[in-house]
Parts: sequence; C-alpha cells; structure tokens
Amino acid sequence: MQKSFTQLENFGHSLSAPSYLIRPNTTEEIYSAFQLAKKTDLTVTARGAGRSYNDAALNGGSIVLDMCGMNAITQWDQSTGLITAQPGTTLEQLWQKVEPDGWWPPVVSGTMKTTLGGCLSANIHGKNNFKMGPIGEHVVEFNAILPTGAEITCSPKKNEDLFYAMISGLGLLGIFTSVTMQMKRIHSGLLTVNAWPVQNLQGHLSSLLDNAPNYDYIVGWLDTITMGHGQIHAANYLQEGDDPNPQKTMRLENQNLPGRLFGVMPKSLLHYFMTPFVNNLGWGIVNTAKYITSLRKHTFRQPHAAFHFLLDYVPLWELSYGKGGLIQHQSFLPKETALQAWTEMLTLAKKQGLPSYVGVTKRHRPDKFLLTHAVDGFSLALDFKVTDRNRTRLHKMLQEYDRIVLEHGGRFYFAKNSETSPETAKAFLGEETIAKYKKLKKRCDPDGLLKSDLYRRVFG
Ligand SMILES: Cc1cc2nc3c(=O)[nH]c(=O)nc-3n(C[C@H](O)[C@H](O)[C@H](O)COP(=O)(O)OP(=O)(O)OC[C@H]3O[C@@H](n4cnc5c(N)ncnc54)[C@H](O)[C@@H]3O)c2cc1C
Repeated sequence: MQKSFTQLENFGHSLSAPSYLIRPNTTEEIYSAFQLAKKTDLTVTARGAGRSYNDAALNGGSIVLDMCGMNAITQWDQSTGLITAQPGTTLEQLWQKVEPDGWWPPVVSGTMKTTLGGCLSANIHGKNNFKMGPIGEHVVEFNAILPTGAEITCSPKKNEDLFYAMISGLGLLGIFTSVTMQMKRIHSGLLTVNAWPVQNLQGHLSSLLDNAPNYDYIVGWLDTITMGHGQIHAANYLQEGDDPNPQKTMRLENQNLPGRLFGVMPKSLLHYFMTPFVNNLGWGIVNTAKYITSLRKHTFRQPHAAFHFLLDYVPLWELSYGKGGLIQHQSFLPKETALQAWTEMLTLAKKQGLPSYVGVTKRHRPDKFLLTHAVDGFSLALDFKVTDRNRTRLHKMLQEYDRIVLEHGGRFYFAKNSETSPETAKAFLGEETIAKYKKLKKRCDPDGLLKSDLYRRVFG
C-alpha cells in the first residue's frame, strides 16, 4: 500500500488541502487505513478521480484514500448488459468496454474521467435525468466496507436503507468496493441530434419542458451575459435498422475524441489559447459566435462519446480560468419557479459584475435517494472564475444565490456547490432527512472516522 503526503485540489483548482494519500489495492488495505486513522486520531475521505468541483474529496490534514488503483472490471455479460467493476473504474473504461458489444452506460456525467465510486457517492445525473433518473437507479447491487470493518452487500431489496443512503451519501457512510450495474442496449454508435436556438430564458425553459418527452437526452447552453440567447441540443438513440453498419460506428476508433485539433495542434496545449477568452469580452465573442452558428435549426448524427463528453475535448480546460481557478454553482428549481429564480440570480450577477461564462441547463425529475438533489424541474450550472480580488464578493453573491434558490423551493448538488451551509442543507433536505442520515452515520461509522472537508462544512 503506497503512502505519501500531498497537496490535493478540487477539480477547479480553487481549493486545496494537504493530506496523507494512501492508495489501497484491496478491501483489506482500506480497513488498515481505518485502523491507522483510529490509532492516530485522524479521519478518512475516499477520493475517486477528484472531479468534484468542491471539497467533497478533500480532507485537510488527514487521510485521503485514492481509490483509482482499484479499477478492475471483474465481470461483463454482453448478453444481459450486466457489468461488475471495482469503484476506481472510470466511466471511460466502462463505455469503452461495453460499447463495442452494443451497450452504453445508462447515465454519464459531462466528463468520462469520473470513477464509479465518485459517481455513486454523488449520485450523478446525465442529460437524460428526466427519463432515466440518476445513476443509482441502474445499480443492481454494490459491496462496501464500513469503518467498523463490516463488509456489506446492498441492493434495492437487501439493506435497502443503506442502498438509498450510501448512493448519494458522499462517501461518508462506507467505501464502495464493487458495483454491479445494468447497461443500456444500443443499436448504433451514433445519436441523432437536433439543435435549435432560443431567444430568451423563458423560451429556453419552455423548450426544455415541451421537448423533453420526445427525446432520450436534452441539454441547453445559455449565454448568461445576454441572459437570453441560447441553444438546445436534444438527442435520440437510433432504432434497430436505422444504422446500416452499427458494428462499425460502435468501434472505439469511431468514438474516441481526436488527440489533435485539425489533425495538427495537440489538444493538451489548447487551454493556453483559451485563457485570453476567459473574461467578459472574450466570452461575449465566443457566445455570440456560438449563437450565430446555431441560428438555423439543424439535425446531425454524432458519436455517443462526442455528444456526452464535450468537456473532455479540451484536456485541462479548467486551467484557462487562471491561478484562482473556478467554482460552479448548480441549482435545481421546480419548473414553476425556475424562471423567476434564475432571472433574479442572473440579474444579480450582472449588477455585481460577476458574470458566469458558461450556463448549462437540464431537465430533471425527483428520485428516492436520501441526499437527493433532483426536482421536477430544471437545473442551471454556472461556472465562475475566482480571483484574489473577487473571492469575497463571489462568496457573498453565491450565498445570496442560495437564499434565492431556497425561497423558490429549490435544491443543491453536493458534488458542485462550495457555499452550501448547514442551514441551507437543513432547509432543502429537511430536518428529518438529516436526522436519518446522521443516525445511519452513527450506525455505520460509530467512531466518526469518515469525514471530509465537505462533511465538516455542511454536517459537522
Ligand atoms: C467537467 C465535469 C463535468 C461534470 N458533469 C457532471 C454531470 O453532467 N452530472 C453530474 O451529476 N456530475 C457532473 N460532474 C461532477 C462529477 O460527476 C462528480 O463530482 C463525481 O462525484 C466525480 O467523481 P470522481 O470519481 O472524480 O469523485 P471524487 O470527486 O474524487 O469524489 C466525489 C465523492 O465520492 C466519494 N468517493 C469516491 N470514491 C468512493 C468510494 N470508492 N466509496 C465511497 N465514496 C467514494 C468521495 O469521498 C467524494 O465524496 C462533472 C464534473 C466535471 C469536472
């Protein structure tokens, strides 16, 4: 088992914390880390790929378990689409394993670099949340080790309370050691994508609401600076027989994102060229160009990987935000109040001179996981550049955002937001849910060994 002392960061490089990094390769080594923590009066946080935008996978001054070494796919049945893998397996490994056999992960995040353990702990949603729910709804069974050393198996029928609490539970009840999931059958490596422009936020939200029932996926890109222009991308799977050569389109070489731009420039250098655009003027130009090129409604076919993982197209794009990094605020609003809440929030950003350069909208439905973030409505994810000068003002504005979201009956996502306070969590989750979570925590982790910076911020 490798150990080192390292400075770890969140995905956006806006937060950092020194930690003892331990890389377990077996369940026994995870248990040894718990024993070490108990003996030395330290705490433990699991970390997958470190793609959380906030402090969910940070544990300042204590132990972080880097789960990436436990990344074997242990069983794959291409006739049923059932797959079993260790928690450090990434979504990239997963889709690359199943796609050539005619399957696709039912729910994926906007990056393929995330691990199964991280995805279950946050209970990620995709651009199909309104239809397929979060990733947890496709987990058939998982194994986990608790800080007591107990090894458990959970499914919707076995240890049901822990199944619905550990998925969404932020890695604070136990550590996943194996996950079995049902993949989705596909008949082509391509999706049919429709793209169309929208003129304002109201049109944007009604477009998502009215069109979602006709599609497998839907997502909106919002120009938050003009507060109006935007585009909707909606996609459907191809039906059996629609693709004359599915074996070919499902081959990995027809899915993988190219390593070079225009076949020449290595994409790993691209983020340097983006840096000058991460300001009001630069992003205004990018958004306008994007809007003009999408003025016409158009339809095209796109490989699954290109549709889902656009953000992976430019590796390390987050570095273009500069040395202060970036944070994301994602709010989930009921469909009845979203327009009013987001109009208030975007107006406030404009007034404060703290614009977000990227606004992504999705359509959602509720789910029954304990720390759920979903609503029957929409989400809006906003990325903010952090600088030494704006840090305090930004923090204050995002607290104001939280107030507006709560006032409109909204919820928050623990994998993204950095501002959520204990009061906010209580207000949107409800005291009963928090009490239930804490009771389960006491049962699974009587010595309080599993803690993270997020835990101390929100539940401590
Ligand atoms: C570019 C980008 C796009 C994204 N798009 C989406 C999106 O579309 N939808 C969405 O829902 N999210 C999205 N996210 C957020 C991301 O999916 C979540 O933050 C996810 O949890 C990250 O997985 P990870 O493996 O990096 O986990 P980490 O960030 O390392 O950890 C996340 C949480 O999981 C816990 N954890 C990790 N491994 C284990 C384990 N084995 N057992 C128990 N707990 C564990 C950690 O303690 C922590 O609480 C995006 C993030 C990025 C950077």
